[in-house]
Amino acid sequence: MSGRDFIQLPGPTNIPDRVLEAYRRPIVDFGGPKFREILDDVFERLPAVFSGSPHVVSYISNGHGAWEGTLRNIVRPGEKLLLADTGMFSGRWGDMVEGLGFKLQTTPARIREGADVEAVRDALGADADHEIKALLIAHTETSTGVRTDLAPLRAALDEFDHPALIVVDAIASLGTEVLPVRELGLDVVISASQKGLMMPPGLSFAAVSDRALEIAQEIHEEGSYWAWPSRLDVSAPYRRYGGTPPEQAVFAMQVALDMIDEEGGVEGVIARHERLADAARAAFTVWSEGGALEFNAIHKDERANAVTALRLADGIDGELLRAMCRDRFSVTIGGGMLDMADGRGIRIGHLGDLNEPMILGALAGVETAMRVLGIPLGAGALDAAMASLASS
Ligand SMILES: *Cc1c(COP(=O)(O)O)cnc(C)c1O
Repeated sequence: MSGRDFIQLPGPTNIPDRVLEAYRRPIVDFGGPKFREILDDVFERLPAVFSGSPHVVSYISNGHGAWEGTLRNIVRPGEKLLLADTGMFSGRWGDMVEGLGFKLQTTPARIREGADVEAVRDALGADADHEIKALLIAHTETSTGVRTDLAPLRAALDEFDHPALIVVDAIASLGTEVLPVRELGLDVVISASQKGLMMPPGLSFAAVSDRALEIAQEIHEEGSYWAWPSRLDVSAPYRRYGGTPPEQAVFAMQVALDMIDEEGGVEGVIARHERLADAARAAFTVWSEGGALEFNAIHKDERANAVTALRLADGIDGELLRAMCRDRFSVTIGGGMLDMADGRGIRIGHLGDLNEPMILGALAGVETAMRVLGIPLGAGALDAAMASLASS
């Protein structure tokens, strides 16, 4: 088909041509001065993207690798973690915790609202012996489109003077939401390259506080591929990737960081995501007036800037809609997850390398597909999106 396909998935996301071009650069000697300069530059600039986390470790993996890498640095086998269950991704993280031989306590799953803070409070309050070593939370749960406010979780730890680390999965929220790393003392912020960072899948990150690094230093098993202390050894830069560095990905990351700087830093990137997500939400609100769909996230202030999950009314087939969007209107959107799987929901990503005409075009494509399928919609969704952009 002519023209570009629009990718509106909640990851992987669109990649700017400049970033893609970096993958065509030839190999250099990774021990030589040229590569060292680029590697040092990238690792010097990454902490700002992670809102000030002092130490940033990167793995050649998707986000699951940083999940595992983090667990191996902060707990010993048999130790306990508390997971605030907010949906599919946090659930899978919990499965990993147990599979690796750590103890897991979870709070009841919340899929239309942020994490169950009361249950977290109860768990911490009951843990006088401080068996819980860390609290795990997905900031934006990509399966539900819900963002959890992290401040009440910090407050719950403070209330009981509980020393557990706060470990945040920010795979979908990096670059799309304000990450209060310093304000809330977030100990580990985990992310991956293929969402807000506008890169292909393949790199993951753990941004680590001084306290979390001290724990990793105590636990540190010499020789572990995942160990943070050796990866942060700047006297031997090749150790940053525990072996041969992914040179082209590092070149590409430098370009992505340049683009973030050109946008006014991560704050500028977050502001753009907020603006575009507001426009998308304005359109979804009008669509929902037809009674065929609704926001999965019940509370307006918990609707994520990265992705919106829409619940479809009975009788509306989300998979048919997705196929129509993709095959006839060149817009790829995500399918529903959890109880919205099998066509009972759709997820529209609005993150990554995205601008105003792209989001408007994608919304128009999806609406046209819904019209073809006879899905009842409120009138004027595109107008509402344009009005939102015009006033922001
Ligand atoms: C995408 C995503 C993941 C999974 O990331 P992978 O790179 O596929 O491992 C985990 N958590 C959240 C919140 C995500 O958005």
